[in-house]
Amino acid sequence: MTLFAGAGTTSATSHFINGEWTEASGPTFAVRNPLNDELVADAAAGTAADMRTAVEAAAAAFHAWANLNPGARQQLFLKAADIVDRRHEELVALMAVEGGASRAFSSFQIRLSSAMLRQAAGWGYLPAGDVLRSDVPGRTAMVTRKPLGVVAGFTPWNGAFYLAWRTFLLPMAFGNTTVIKPSELAPMSAGLIHAEILEEAGFPAGSFNVVTNAPGDAAAVSEVFFEHPAVRCINFTGSDKTARILGAQAGRALKRMVLELGGFNPVLVLDDADLEESIKAVTFGAFLHQGQVCMNSRKVYVHRSLHDEFVSRLAERVQALKIGDPLDPEVIIGPLITDQAVAQIHERVQDAVDRGATLVTGGTFEGRLYAPTILTHVPADAICTTGSDETFGPLLVIEAFDDVDAAFRDAQDVPYGLSASIMTRDRARGLDLAQRFDTGIVHVNAPTMASEAALPVGGVKDSGWGRSGHYAVEDFTEVRLATMSSEPGRYPF
Ligand code: ADP
Repeated sequence: MTLFAGAGTTSATSHFINGEWTEASGPTFAVRNPLNDELVADAAAGTAADMRTAVEAAAAAFHAWANLNPGARQQLFLKAADIVDRRHEELVALMAVEGGASRAFSSFQIRLSSAMLRQAAGWGYLPAGDVLRSDVPGRTAMVTRKPLGVVAGFTPWNGAFYLAWRTFLLPMAFGNTTVIKPSELAPMSAGLIHAEILEEAGFPAGSFNVVTNAPGDAAAVSEVFFEHPAVRCINFTGSDKTARILGAQAGRALKRMVLELGGFNPVLVLDDADLEESIKAVTFGAFLHQGQVCMNSRKVYVHRSLHDEFVSRLAERVQALKIGDPLDPEVIIGPLITDQAVAQIHERVQDAVDRGATLVTGGTFEGRLYAPTILTHVPADAICTTGSDETFGPLLVIEAFDDVDAAFRDAQDVPYGLSASIMTRDRARGLDLAQRFDTGIVHVNAPTMASEAALPVGGVKDSGWGRSGHYAVEDFTEVRLATMSSEPGRYPF
C-alpha cells in the first residue's frame, strides 16, 4: 500500500489494525491542504467499534512483542529508520500539503525521527533491572522493568511526523504494543504513514495499530482507551485544555497518563550575549513552523543596552523569511492550520496594539498565511504576554529589562514549564541561571527548540509530564519485585 506518492489526492480510507489495512466500515472525512483547502485525502471516520478491535489486536500481540529478543527488535527499528530516510522527499511533500510544514521543518522532523529510531534500536539492551540486598538472611531481591501492556496514543497535527513516533515508538521500544488515534487534521502524517513504514519494515501484526476519526468523533472513539482493561497507559500530545478533560477520564479509570502539552518558552538575552547568535536563535526558535510548536519561543527578555539593536536586526531577519506555499523549498513561513488559528493570533495582536503595544513587524495575513509578528512595549495585561494561554502562531513579544533577576522572575511566572533559553558569553553565569529555571528543558546559547532524539524532552507544571529519550523507560515500564530465599524463614507465629 502506498498512501501518498508525493503529489495529488490520495486515499487514506483504511485503518491499520492487526497488520492489515482495514477498509472503513462507515463514512469518510476530507483532509484539506491548509494553504488552499484543496483535498489531500479522504480518511476513515472510525468508530468506537474500530478502536475496540484495534485495542484487542494490540492486546493479543503484546506477549510476543514484549518477549521478542532485543536483537530482533533492533533490526526492525533500524530497518524502519532506513525507510524513513529513503522516503525523505515524499514525507516533505506530505507534511507540506497536509500540515503546511516548510521543508526546513519537515526535514528537521525526518532527521529526528530516523535518529530516534536508531537510538531506540539499542534500548532493548539497557539493563533490565537491579539486584538489591535484603536484610533477611539468604534472600535476594530482583527488580525487573516490565512493559505495561497496550499503550494508547493521541498524536498531534503540528510536529505530526516526529511527535507521532515519539508517542508510540518510546512505548514500543520498551516492549509495549500500541494503538494510536491521530489528529483529525493530519491523519496521514500523524499515523497512517507510520503504519506503512512499520509494515514495510516487518513489524509483527498488532504491535502497532492506527484508527483515524472524523472531527467531532474524538471523544466517542477515544473513550475505548479509558474503558478497555487492556489499555494500561495513555500517552497524549496536545493542548492542556484537552489534557484536563482526558486526565479526569484517566483518573476515573485509574489509568496512567503521559502528557506532552504546551509551553510559553522564554529567552533571556543577557547584556554580554552574542547579538548575532541570539538573533539567529530567536528567529529559528520563534518562527519555525510559523510558531505552531510547543517549544517555540514566545517571549524574549533583552537587556536594555542591547534591546533597540536586537529588535531592529531581528525584524530585518524576520522580514526576509519567505512566506507562501511550503512546497516551495525557499518558503519558511507556511499557512496556519485553521481559520481559528488565524483568528486567535490576530485577535491577540489587535488586543496588544489596542492596549498600546508597538507593532514592529507583521500583524497582517492573507488567507491562512500570517506574517511573522513582533511586538514590543506590550502592557502586562495583554493576553499574548501573560503566558496564561499559549498563542499558537508566529507571534513574538520582546521586552527590555534592567535587572536580570526581575526578568527571570517574570519569565518563570507562567503556568507552563517546557523550555527556556539563556544567551550569554558568560557560560558559568548562564548555567547558574539555567539550573534555577522551573522548566523541563533549558538551553544556554541555543534556541528553545533544540531537540535531539537522544535527549529527554518534556515539561513540568502545565506543560505535562513524561520524558523522551531512554528516560521514557520510567513512563512506559513498571517495576516488578521478585525475591528468592535460600534459608528457612523466621516467623513470629
Ligand atoms: P489541538 O488544539 O492542538 O488540535 P487538542 O488538544 O484540541 O489539540 O487535540 C488533541 C487531540 O485530542 C486530537 O486528537 C483530538 O481529536 C483529541 N480530542 C480533543 N478533544 C477531545 C475530547 N473531548 N475527548 C477526546 N479526545 C479529544
